[in-house]
Amino acid sequence: MEPSAADLLALDAAHVWHPYAPMPGRVPPLLVEEASGVRLKLADGRELVDGMSSWWAAVHGYRNPVLDAALAQQAGRMSHVMFGGLTHEPAITLAKTLVEMTPDGLEHVFLCDSGSVSVEVAVKMCLQYQRSRGLPGKHRLLTWRGGYHGDTFTPMSVCDPDGGMHSLWRGVLPEQVFVPVPPSGFDAPVDQSYVDELAKAIEQHADELAAVIVEPVVQGAGGMRFHHPGYLRALREATREHDVLLVFDEIATGFGRTGKLFAAEHAGVTPDVLCLGKALTGGYLTMAAALCTPEIADGITRGELPVLAHGPTFMGNPLASAVANASLGLLAEGQWQADVARIETALRQGLEPARELPHVVDVRVLGAIGVLQLDHEVDLGVATEVVTAEGAWLRPFRDLIYAMPPYVSTDADLEVVTSAMRAAAAKA
Ligand SMILES: *Cc1c(COP(=O)(O)O)cnc(C)c1O
Repeated sequence: MEPSAADLLALDAAHVWHPYAPMPGRVPPLLVEEASGVRLKLADGRELVDGMSSWWAAVHGYRNPVLDAALAQQAGRMSHVMFGGLTHEPAITLAKTLVEMTPDGLEHVFLCDSGSVSVEVAVKMCLQYQRSRGLPGKHRLLTWRGGYHGDTFTPMSVCDPDGGMHSLWRGVLPEQVFVPVPPSGFDAPVDQSYVDELAKAIEQHADELAAVIVEPVVQGAGGMRFHHPGYLRALREATREHDVLLVFDEIATGFGRTGKLFAAEHAGVTPDVLCLGKALTGGYLTMAAALCTPEIADGITRGELPVLAHGPTFMGNPLASAVANASLGLLAEGQWQADVARIETALRQGLEPARELPHVVDVRVLGAIGVLQLDHEVDLGVATEVVTAEGAWLRPFRDLIYAMPPYVSTDADLEVVTSAMRAAAAKA
C-alpha cells in the first residue's frame, strides 16, 4: 500500500533536511505530487501557479514535452558514463552551444554538478592562473556586499558578510575584500564616486587579488537588488588596468531572465570567467558550467601543475547535457524574448499598486523578476498561507516577496502571482 500524504509528511519531518531549515523543520512543507506547465499539483488536490520557477530554473515550465522527450531519448542511450578518458555527443554539443551563445571570448567549458561547484571551479581557475604566472600572492577575491554565490565554503566567503553569517565563520572562511553594495536601480544614473571607490579598492589590493567576482545587474538571493550595468563596465576597466581577473556569476541571471540572454550583455562586457547554472537544464537536472578565456586555459596548462585539478564524478552527465541542449534549443527559437518582455509588463502592472500598501518600501521589476520589499521581515508561515490561498506558490525571504515566473506563464497566471504578492505584502 502506498503511504498516505500524512505518513509521508511524518517521515519527511523525521528524516528529511530542507534548505536553510532546522531538523525537524518548523513549518511543514507542501507535498507536491505532479507539476506541469506552471502548475504544482499538491497531494491535497490543490493546484498552485508557480511564481518561483523552482528558484530561477524551470523557465520552460514543468513536464515540457520537448525536455521530457530529450530526457527519455537520452535515457534510452546512456544515463551516465565517467568523463575522465571518455566523452559523448550531449556534452560536446552543450559546450559548443554555450561558447556560441555567451559573450565573445569565452571558449572553454568546465561542466559540473551545481552552481556552488561552478563558483569553486571559477575561483580555482583564477587562483591557479595567477600561480601559473608566478604570482601566487594573488589569491584573494574582491566583491561588493549584498551578493550570493552559493553555499559551499569558497562561495560563502564572497556572499554578503551579514547575510552569509561571516561572523559565525571567522577563522574558517577565507577573508575576502569587500566594497559597499552597488547603488540601487537599473535605471538610476551611475554614481561616479562609487565607480572611483571600486577602482581604488581594486588598485589598492591589486597585488593580492586573483579576481573580482560579482553577480552582474541583479544580486539575487543576497537581496534581490538591481544595479546599473555601468558598474560592470567600471569593473572591467579597473580589473584590466590592475591585472586582476573578472568573474561574472550568472547562475541566476543567465538564459534570458533579465531581458538579455546574459546580464553581461546589458553592459557589453565579457568577463574572464562566467558561471552558469540554474536554468541551464530548464530546471530538470542539476548541472552548472564555468566558462573561461583561452588566456586562462593556456596559463593553467603552462603552469607548475599543468591541469585544472577538478573532476566531479558526475561531470558532463549525459542526461543533464541532453536536457540542457533541448532547453537551449527552445531558447534559440527566440520566443523567450517576447515572453520575458510580456512578463515584465505584467509584473509592473500587477505590482505597482502595491506601492500604496502601508508596509511596502519598494517595488522593483526587471525582465521576468518582480520584487516587493517590506519595512519588516516577512512572516513566512503567514505569507505561505496567504499566497497558497490565492492559488500561487511563492517563497519570500527576509523582507522580500518576489517572483521569477516561468517564461511560459500566461497573463492570467501572472495575475494570480502578482495578486498573491500584493495579498502577502498586506498581511504578512
Ligand atoms: C543559486 C546560486 C548559486 C548556487 O547555485 P547552487 O546550484 O544552488 O549551488 C550561486 N550563485 C548564484 C548567483 C545563485 O543564484
